Amino acid sequence: MRVVRTLDELRQARAALPATVGFVPTMGYLHEGHLSLVRCAKAENASVVVSIFVNPTQFGPDEDLETYPRDLERDLRLLEAEGVDVVWTPTPEVMYPSGYQTWVTVEELTRVLEGAYRPGHFRGVTTVVSKLFLGVWPHRAYFGQKDAQQARVLLQMVRDLNFPIEVVVCPTVREPDGLAMSSRNTYLNPEERRAATVLYRALQAAQAAYDAGERDAEALRQRMREVLAQEPLARVQYVSCADPDTLQELHGPVTRALLSLAVFIGNTRLIDNVLLGYPGGVYPRYTPPGMDARLRHGLG
Ligand code: AMP
Repeated sequence: MRVVRTLDELRQARAALPATVGFVPTMGYLHEGHLSLVRCAKAENASVVVSIFVNPTQFGPDEDLETYPRDLERDLRLLEAEGVDVVWTPTPEVMYPSGYQTWVTVEELTRVLEGAYRPGHFRGVTTVVSKLFLGVWPHRAYFGQKDAQQARVLLQMVRDLNFPIEVVVCPTVREPDGLAMSSRNTYLNPEERRAATVLYRALQAAQAAYDAGERDAEALRQRMREVLAQEPLARVQYVSCADPDTLQELHGPVTRALLSLAVFIGNTRLIDNVLLGYPGGVYPRYTPPGMDARLRHGLG
């Protein structure tokens, strides 16, 4: 496994990789959620590249950039054990040299949900993922359904900018008690960790109502609110039942829906979601037009 930092080193390492190349962007402090993406990439491609970069431009001024957990040595051991070929660990200076002033923005989809509470967040995400794509130039890229809006926004970006990259969304990996795995779970003290299970319990209650035939969007939101209200440590930021394509809030009868929520447990902000009415509960893979030569023959 090669670990590279600069663009020069990355391009050299990338040029030596057999096609196809699968790519998993991360912010490190890896857990089974990240590793599930790596395994998915490994199963579908001859080579796998992982990036580890805590991207400063996707954090708001009052967010946890400084305290975001980091453990590069451990991350590299885990990736080596998965048979990853190249790990790219750029520094902020590599990604944003002084004078940097170019941004990628997806518009409508980033105004709601996470975007409404984290202004500038998705601009940071779409910009850094574009730069990571242009550096690694993968055939396929892998993202988690855990960050549903991020997946939806990146699918849109790849389509709108004609990146010749297939996008694969993988299911949310959970702890045995249902809590979605997240690097930020490490912020929770034992009492908060127990309370944090309320997010998935709320989603499951709404999903059970949907499975039992409930189709009213407000009733599904209400079901989630009722469960969340039972947990004194939970402070709800939003509860949503949205159109999975537009991410606009639904009213009246729903067919497919993205149920999502953001909840503070103490000072830790957690998000989770379930996607109703999609096979496997994930956004479908997006293969850009004209990808045959790249994917089948590994060209370009
Ligand atoms: P992060 O390091 O948090 O930026 O996450 C890197 C990638 O891993 C993103 O595509 C996330 O959606 C994905 N991811 C994070 N947590 C999980 C999880 N519990 N299950 C599946 N994918 C995840």
